[in-house]
Amino acid sequence: MTSSSVTRPGVEPGRSSSAITTAAWDAAVAAIRAVPLDAEVQLICHVNPDGDALGSMLGFALGLRRLGFTGLRATFPGDFDVPEPYRALPGAELLVPEPQAYGKPQLILIFDVAGESRLGALAGLLDAGIPAIVLDHHASNTGLGDVTLVDPAAVATSVVADELLTRLGVELDAEIAECLYVALATDTGSFKFVRSPSVHELAARLIATGISPGDIARRIFDTRPFGAMKLAGEVLGRAILDPAAAGGRGMVWTYATTADLERHHQRPYVLDSLIDPVRGVAEADVAVVVKELTAGEWSVSLRSKGGVDVSAVAVALGGGGHRLAAGFTAYGTPDDVIAQIVPLLEANLS
Ligand code: AMP
Ligand code: MN
Ligand code: MN
Repeated sequence: MTSSSVTRPGVEPGRSSSAITTAAWDAAVAAIRAVPLDAEVQLICHVNPDGDALGSMLGFALGLRRLGFTGLRATFPGDFDVPEPYRALPGAELLVPEPQAYGKPQLILIFDVAGESRLGALAGLLDAGIPAIVLDHHASNTGLGDVTLVDPAAVATSVVADELLTRLGVELDAEIAECLYVALATDTGSFKFVRSPSVHELAARLIATGISPGDIARRIFDTRPFGAMKLAGEVLGRAILDPAAAGGRGMVWTYATTADLERHHQRPYVLDSLIDPVRGVAEADVAVVVKELTAGEWSVSLRSKGGVDVSAVAVALGGGGHRLAAGFTAYGTPDDVIAQIVPLLEANLS
């Protein structure tokens, strides 16, 4: 882990995981340096973007802007509906709706995307002969793109983004740091799921730029519309505990429909944080929230406390993620979705 890093100029020893080879880092740096500063550069993150997707993408975009790139655009597939907490992120002015991504980019950078299904129609850009660099941390990453910087040991894609910025000679400033911090805090559950001291070392470097973690946390995690709180009360109130599921380890699940959202005048992103109180249920190892995207189409969030490999469950159902946090898209009724999941929990006990 540390031995090869001493040979890399400009990079602190011990920061990067061995999962990404020196050749891959060098290829990414070379691909970026090969592009003229006034060329169109398209940054993309996953559908229904979260804090890591938007934070790592915009933080990296701001780093490229510091290097002098002038043709930067950032986007994500589907409705151009940036979750309210992320609208004020530095660099948000670089965000454009998906249709504007189909210009003539000379380079594509993809963030926090485990597979083509998370890119929607934008996946077509991967077949257009444009060099594509992928920064990600999903163990289930399918290897999309031309240069793949995928580190399953990284807690967030922003860890990979930070290292690539360092290798490009970009110094952190408060704007870049705010984006990367939001990404890091989001994917670590506000630093609850940290696996290595290097996460806090990165956080320390980000905070040293002058950003305010308390203000950021309040804005991103602790502020919600009144209607979202009322909606959460209903969705959590209908949760079901199945103690026999997952070989007796237990599963707790609930669902939210588009009608629920409409009744409370809320946007879909407000449902994404509901997995956290559900996964806190002591009697269950596995937590599931089934969220309706459009009539009969559901986005499913899976969490485990360690008794089940939910990434394997999600992959079996066409999705992806991490061992303890994963997701997939499903069809039918919430009961149909749960009926698909239950036998796979038994098959993926860990
Ligand atoms: P979420 O439950 O949406 O917070 O997602 C948990 C983890 O699973 C994240 O790392 C997501 O990137 C991943 N994930 C969620 N939905 C999908 C999907 N449909 N396909 C692949 N990965 C997904
Ligand atoms: Mn994500
Ligand atoms: Mn992520």
